[in-house]
Amino acid sequence: MEFKEPFYFQPDDKTPFCPACWELKNSAIHLIFQFIREDAVRWDCKVCHNTFMDQKDRNVKRPQRHQIPNTWG
Ligand SMILES: [Zn+2]
Repeated sequence: MEFKEPFYFQPDDKTPFCPACWELKNSAIHLIFQFIREDAVRWDCKVCHNTFMDQKDRNVKRPQRHQIPNTWG
């Protein structure tokens, strides 16, 4: 089992495995594809009922830092 954040994968298997089930119980549970959006893919685990939103382009879009206004006078 190979961890590619946020999921686990088997070689030659494009369907991710539930990281919660694997890490808690060593159960290899396939996630069920729900839908794809412009910015994210949604996967559900039918065993532990976790839902996962895998955001695309996480390395590209970084959260912008808000500049703190200078209130020191
Ligand atoms: Zn699970």
